[in-house]
Amino acid sequence: MVLFGETKLPEITKKVIATPGEKVAVIEEFNSGEGTYLQESNVRSLHVGEIRKNLSERSINIKHPDSKNILPQLGDIITGVVETAQTKIANICIESINGKLSKAGFTGMLQLISNQSSGRGRVKRGATCRSGDIVRALVFSIANSTIHLSIDRPDLGVLKATCSMCGGDFVRLDDRLKCVDCGFIEERRLSSEYGNK
Ligand SMILES: [Zn+2]
Repeated sequence: MVLFGETKLPEITKKVIATPGEKVAVIEEFNSGEGTYLQESNVRSLHVGEIRKNLSERSINIKHPDSKNILPQLGDIITGVVETAQTKIANICIESINGKLSKAGFTGMLQLISNQSSGRGRVKRGATCRSGDIVRALVFSIANSTIHLSIDRPDLGVLKATCSMCGGDFVRLDDRLKCVDCGFIEERRLSSEYGNK
């Protein structure tokens, strides 16, 4: 397994790995096969995987590398459970990669303070996430063999949380959560998909 470092990627003349949504062929060349979908006349990849052409069927397929122990790749969307959340980082135990269960137990690192909000580095009072939350995040770097995660997109962030006072369920109030049992209100960086999991 090759990890992309921070150095520039070597020039790849023939791309063999597709990322989700990437155009891999046009319908005049190849039919939409396994792991692909058709959008207008473009065949696009559903997930990260190896591009394989089946010339006898004239189809293009994106093969998931054997999903068991595959390290998340750049651009993958993961969901996972927050194991620990400190001021600056949270460790996320990855449970699925691009919608497929991952039992390898990879841990991703989510930086909780964005680089833009430098200033004196005072953290907003509301928590981004807390341990036990389920989050959806994007793999934006795998430099130094660390899976760096980002939730800097509306559909990313906390998908499910429970009250830190009593463990009850929350209802969503805009960008905050209210416990249905004890009425406690907490903040999280919520995904637009909160509660859909
Ligand atoms: Zn509660």
